[in-house]
Amino acid sequence: MSLAVRQAGVGDILQDEDLDALIVTDLLNIRYLTGFTGSNGVLVVTSSGRVLLTDARYAAQAGAQVVDTDVVIAGRDLMDRLADVVPRGRAGIEVEHVTVARRDRLAERLAGVDLMPTSGLVEGLRVVKDDEELDLIREAARVADLALGRLVSEGFGGRTEAATAWALEGWMRDLGAEGTAFDIIVAGGTHGALPHAVPRAVPIPGDTLVVVDMGARVAGYASDCTRTLATGTLPPALDEAYAVCLEAQRAALAACRSGTHSKELDSTARKVIADAGLGEYFGHGLGHGVGLEIHERPWLRGEGGEVLRTGMVVTVEPGIYLEGVGGVRIEDLAIITDDGCEVLTRVPTDLTMTTT
Ligand code: ZN
Ligand code: ZN
Repeated sequence: MSLAVRQAGVGDILQDEDLDALIVTDLLNIRYLTGFTGSNGVLVVTSSGRVLLTDARYAAQAGAQVVDTDVVIAGRDLMDRLADVVPRGRAGIEVEHVTVARRDRLAERLAGVDLMPTSGLVEGLRVVKDDEELDLIREAARVADLALGRLVSEGFGGRTEAATAWALEGWMRDLGAEGTAFDIIVAGGTHGALPHAVPRAVPIPGDTLVVVDMGARVAGYASDCTRTLATGTLPPALDEAYAVCLEAQRAALAACRSGTHSKELDSTARKVIADAGLGEYFGHGLGHGVGLEIHERPWLRGEGGEVLRTGMVVTVEPGIYLEGVGGVRIEDLAIITDDGCEVLTRVPTDLTMTTT
């Protein structure tokens, strides 16, 4: 059972960090460690086990979902019961997920407990996915692929950017997705030069590129894929930008494997684009990890990052954005393996013509 492995992992963290307890307040971290998906919970991990505090609305749900963890039904303010379950000594708090107000309340209620700031401890476990997580991400990618494939073969059908985004979402839900992984981007023509464009109620123009960035969510896990489709004969600048972006994307994908530093992948793609004289038009990082969050570790950028390991799930998504002309981004989702990667997005990346 993978939850047992995750729970053992967080037990090791207590030892490594010399903590008597870890107070987990991030709901995704709680979900990862216990299976609980409610919207109000605090998880206390100690060397002797785990206690989940939640309120009466979630009593039945917690009973059904939570694995190998005691459940305490507290009042709406979970802090009221916290002193009963946090031992004296050093208790880690997740500084990225605790407001200053909540920290002050914790300090008030937990006399005799030293609150120790911690950062990214459970996220560090989440960065390498187990088999169960990989299967959910594969399914989310499959569902998004089918919806995107339908768009490619049917064309935009006279839909606006916004209506296309809505259609894609509906198709993914019909296929079993619980929703989108993030707000879908459909950006035609000059609008495609905005990396995070918001779909508008305007028709898709002909003879240009349309950026479609989408993902599904299945049992909490996200997928992420971008294809840039041509709606006719392209202006030479966009034709060239597409070819360069694709070469960069393939070069980075070919370099994906366990043991490679995320920085190297970023620079592999960036070099191809810079060598073509388009370096200034690629303004974001190469990619990011995907899991319970759409953007999570590892970060594939020029700064920071980490050595990739088998079981990490990353996007590889260079882009070239020409203001006033249009944009291109090509994004695959891949599982890092010992000798390469397993690409989960199957819609071809060759320049594909579709109808408006
Ligand atoms: Zn994306
Ligand atoms: Zn992405």
